[in-house]
Amino acid sequence: MIRRKLLLPVLLSFVLYPVALAQLPAAPPNPPPDDRYKADILLIVAHPDDDSLAAPYLAKALYEEHKRVSVIYGTRGNAGGNAVGNEQAASLGAVREIEGRRALASLGILDVWFLNSPDTPGQDVLHSLETWGHGASLEQVVRLVRLTRPEVILTWLPHYVAGENHDDHQAAGVLATEAFDLAGDPVAFPEQIEAPRDHTAIGNYGEGLHPWQPKKIYYFSDATHFEFLEGRGPEYKTSDVSPSKGVPYAKIVSDAWMNDKSQLPANQADLKKYLDQYLNEPVRFVLGKSLVKGSTRGDVFEGITPGTIPYVRARGYEPIARQGVSLEFGGPWAYYRAFWRSHNLDHLSRLLAPETALGGPDNTVWVPLLIHNDSDSPKQVTLRSVLPPGWSEKPGPMIYSLAAHDAYPVQINVVAPESQKNTWQQLTWRAEADGQVIGSVTLRVHVNYNGVPQ
Ligand SMILES: [Zn+2]
Repeated sequence: MIRRKLLLPVLLSFVLYPVALAQLPAAPPNPPPDDRYKADILLIVAHPDDDSLAAPYLAKALYEEHKRVSVIYGTRGNAGGNAVGNEQAASLGAVREIEGRRALASLGILDVWFLNSPDTPGQDVLHSLETWGHGASLEQVVRLVRLTRPEVILTWLPHYVAGENHDDHQAAGVLATEAFDLAGDPVAFPEQIEAPRDHTAIGNYGEGLHPWQPKKIYYFSDATHFEFLEGRGPEYKTSDVSPSKGVPYAKIVSDAWMNDKSQLPANQADLKKYLDQYLNEPVRFVLGKSLVKGSTRGDVFEGITPGTIPYVRARGYEPIARQGVSLEFGGPWAYYRAFWRSHNLDHLSRLLAPETALGGPDNTVWVPLLIHNDSDSPKQVTLRSVLPPGWSEKPGPMIYSLAAHDAYPVQINVVAPESQKNTWQQLTWRAEADGQVIGSVTLRVHVNYNGVPQ
């Protein structure tokens, strides 16, 4: 009897189960990522008008390949000059924000964000990362990568080069690289990933984004010389005629560029020279890294198919094992060595030997050095320079005392003679300890001031 009593409810539950399921209400659909903001290309640059360097390629991608392009500007360019009027500082920023938006809109690019960072004229990337608020800026770039879900990121080369070498440009390249490696990691800025409890209600926490791993990152450079870029990535000729527009890409871009009037020479002859200088050169990309199949010099979209790819963890920081006493360039050079390694960009360390240009119109060059003592005892280290004739330095040769496992950041300022203007010169520093040369470093200097303080 007991068995029969148990059997009946079990049988009934099998019969009634499908009926009960049919009567349950359907859960509301989970909204997919907002497709209005999906980008194929995310350009991450520092100032309104920086886009012009990549724009001949962007025009081809937009008009011929129907790619969707979004842009992040780090700053509003508030520290620039103004060829049009007296508006400066925050007022110039307000002017240049609209110039940048108009230039991009003329190409058909409407999704444009600003990081609100201060324009920081200089060449030391660590200065811009400091003034920009590195953490808050990175948080916003990661957010925008997750929102726009780009296949490809294009940005400035994170490297120290002789040229404009603007520290804001380099900072844009650093943040873009960090975001490339973090946006797919759900533990990085997890509040962006958390689902809101009711997205239709107000005052929600949880930003409702999804992790996103971009597939490739390419760099471009503001160096005054280009030989080191050749063969490192695809090139796009600006003289090529757009099949859909019937004019060269250089013409499309120079028309867009006319919106950045505050940044262009006011004089027509100078303007022509300026445009010729930039728009006769091809767009040269350096392949930073690719997580899909394809060749270094292949097209930007070679190997890219729609959809997600798994997150790829970058190597991250690993301490470098040093022994005894050693000498290396400090400041941004030391930072980049660790940065490239951490982000699996080791090939960038072979791109260019250490170089710089004059740091100001007074012919000065700042040279940061780092003396390491990785031994277990204090060391006395003598530092001497080998400078070309006519150069002077402050301080001169000195003896540095280092405690065990200490590093001494040496700050040297050298002055070039006027007679060597526009030549390349080599400057060497040698360190000696315990009566032996323990290391030397050589810096290539272009004796030319590019208009941005070092
Ligand atoms: Zn710029």
